[in-house]
Amino acid sequence: MPCTGIHALPSGPIEFPEAVYSFIICDEKVVMIDGGVTNSIMDVNFLDKIDYLVISHLHIDHIGLVPDIVNTYKPKILVYQGYKKYLEDPTKINETARKVLGDLVDIYGEVKPIKGEIIEVSGGEEINLGKNIMKIYYTPGHAKHHISVMIGDILYTGDSAGGRYNGIPFPTTPPPLDLKQYLKSLEFQISLEPRLVGLSHGGLVNSIHLKEHYKQLTEGTYKINIELGGTKDDILKRHLEINYKGIELAKNK
Ligand SMILES: [Zn+2]
Repeated sequence: MPCTGIHALPSGPIEFPEAVYSFIICDEKVVMIDGGVTNSIMDVNFLDKIDYLVISHLHIDHIGLVPDIVNTYKPKILVYQGYKKYLEDPTKINETARKVLGDLVDIYGEVKPIKGEIIEVSGGEEINLGKNIMKIYYTPGHAKHHISVMIGDILYTGDSAGGRYNGIPFPTTPPPLDLKQYLKSLEFQISLEPRLVGLSHGGLVNSIHLKEHYKQLTEGTYKINIELGGTKDDILKRHLEINYKGIELAKNK
């Protein structure tokens, strides 16, 4: 059975499944956006195919399950130009993650090498999915190699537009952050006027999120209070401290 509709799938670890979301967009071609963590609870067995797997950027919480998905579905993997080699040998990705995230890496799991058909993109590409066109945009700041995609009127922002839990936007900006580029990418994404936004850390939300997140960064009101309870709360708070540090270091540059 071909799949239908759009799916926001929690792809975090068992301790905090909604820590990360992956998205499935079903058209004549089926697109998956990001691959969650290695220790992910995500199950995509309802799919009989995945044609394209878009990797918004190469942080461990976005690519962990990619090797398993590639084994089963053999999608074309889209990643920013020059970064294919890091997927094939993720030693550097794991080392950087350990430096930035510490033992959170043990909850998420280290990334394994990704073999498969990896296509490098630079932004500006358009791919026909059947009813919809997938447009690829270069949105640096969070990472030098970050891309976002628009399919129909929904923009999938990866980590280039923050996260959102309980209706509250928050920064997903670990060091090294290029705040200037980040804000420029955010302004660009606001100008696209999407109806909805797919956040890797928050799921599908109203596009008002983009302006709210922009405002909290430019006005300096990004230190927020979100209560999730228990282990989820601990994990989120650890990330937030790291993300605040990213902004502060970027400002003092
Ligand atoms: Zn992330």
